[in-house]
Amino acid sequence: MLSATRRAPILIGSEIYRRSSYGPKHPLAIPRVSTALDLIAAMGWMPPGGWVPAPLATPDQLARFHHRDYIAALQRAEATQLVDPADKARFHIGAHGNPVYREVFSRPATSAGGCMLAARLTEHGGVVHCPGGGTHHGRPDRASGFCYLNDPVLGLLSWLDQGLDNVLYIDIDAHHGDGVQDAFHDDPRVFTLSLHEAERWPFTGAADDRAGGHARNLPVPAGFHDAEMLWLLHEAILPVVRHLRPQAIMLQAGADALEEDPLSRLALSNNAHWGVVRALMGAAPRLIVLGGGGYNPWSVGRCWAGIWATLNGIEIPERVTPAAERVLRDLTFHRAAGRNPPEHWFTTLRDAPRRGVVRAAVQRLAAATLRGLPAAG
Ligand SMILES: [Zn+2]
Repeated sequence: MLSATRRAPILIGSEIYRRSSYGPKHPLAIPRVSTALDLIAAMGWMPPGGWVPAPLATPDQLARFHHRDYIAALQRAEATQLVDPADKARFHIGAHGNPVYREVFSRPATSAGGCMLAARLTEHGGVVHCPGGGTHHGRPDRASGFCYLNDPVLGLLSWLDQGLDNVLYIDIDAHHGDGVQDAFHDDPRVFTLSLHEAERWPFTGAADDRAGGHARNLPVPAGFHDAEMLWLLHEAILPVVRHLRPQAIMLQAGADALEEDPLSRLALSNNAHWGVVRALMGAAPRLIVLGGGGYNPWSVGRCWAGIWATLNGIEIPERVTPAAERVLRDLTFHRAAGRNPPEHWFTTLRDAPRRGVVRAAVQRLAAATLRGLPAAG
């Protein structure tokens, strides 16, 4: 149970995600944040007063990290639903998997507003879950990897602007958190640690990539499973946390590292994500947990709803409530996995654990992670 002195976790949401789609053939055609929020409500886990709405970030707020001409180009693309060839070439809007869609400015600006709000709400400590955040590939001056803006960077900058100088960003998405690492390449106040599938787009984040000393990368092999995650949690991630003693931790909990995800080849169950969340609770006075990738609507919704339960110390029951089962049965998915979904995607939140032998390649990553850590904060 949470102690009486500790503030209850805060859930940040928005309705903008519910009917928003990157287009019918895009991996982000699926409902993700709305599914997680609907499941949380249907399980009876919504906090009193419900979730806190993420505000739309203003261009001035976004300009803390993003270039003004890029912000203006996103606003133009939303207003006209078109992009001219110069903007397309320069800003990668309408190109490279970053389509022009109805909310192409306001949806990412809402994620950014949510993550900056999370930083404000934790100024004096606390825990915030913001499943709409986690767009870790966004660049100051262009879209990248389905990410137009970089809400984790903007949230981390908000913490720094409050005067924090020892912040830890942990990223367990299947893809390297390149946009966040590069944003703080020359700023040792933010230590970034990314665990991701090796040899997968964006093909950065090798084990020896340390961004000037205050980054660590754990590129894990295909088939990476729960026992391996548990091992890296205890042999790499938590030792880094104990060494740095950060004032704040931001966790990007992309659900594309789960086995059912169509875009990666990792084999985690959602127990792995929940275990990381549980281990980080209380490890710093401030904790923000974001969403991120995740391209199977059932595994994303179940994972992120379970993260909220974990943050609240709620025991996840064997079977979901009838209302939550309706949320899960109403989902559709136009990929192979959606044609004949297994029954437990409808009736449970918790996956069966995926155990196995911890491979030598994984063990070597932990040893390398702990070598040459910067002086503790
Ligand atoms: Zn990803």
